[in-house]
Amino acid sequence: MIFKVGQRVYWNDPAEETSGVYVLTEIISDDIDNATIVRITNEYSEAEVFTHELLWLDEVYVCNNCGGFNLEHVIWAKLNERKVVMTDVYDEEKYFCVDCAETHYCTPTKYLDYEKNKKP
Ligand SMILES: [Zn+2]
Repeated sequence: MIFKVGQRVYWNDPAEETSGVYVLTEIISDDIDNATIVRITNEYSEAEVFTHELLWLDEVYVCNNCGGFNLEHVIWAKLNERKVVMTDVYDEEKYFCVDCAETHYCTPTKYLDYEKNKKP
């Protein structure tokens, strides 16, 4: 990934507190053991983060219902085994939204499409 100041990104906060959409405002250090540290800002907070914690916005999905980012794939488990064995097959036709606390029977929306449709 090549990062530029002014670019919008999604930050996956390792502490799971302030994940969200940010603008990259400064490249702080390039290449400390191949890790780049950047400053990101949005209307709620500012953070110095590693670029490997960032995603391009066009890779990010949101809940169709609430716009939340906390989505989980519904994974198939093997019913007739006596231990819990997850298959690595997941259901593309539904997802669980942590914010709604609900399973939605559809595919989530790409964030950029969601944002486009939100604007008048
Ligand atoms: Zn939701």
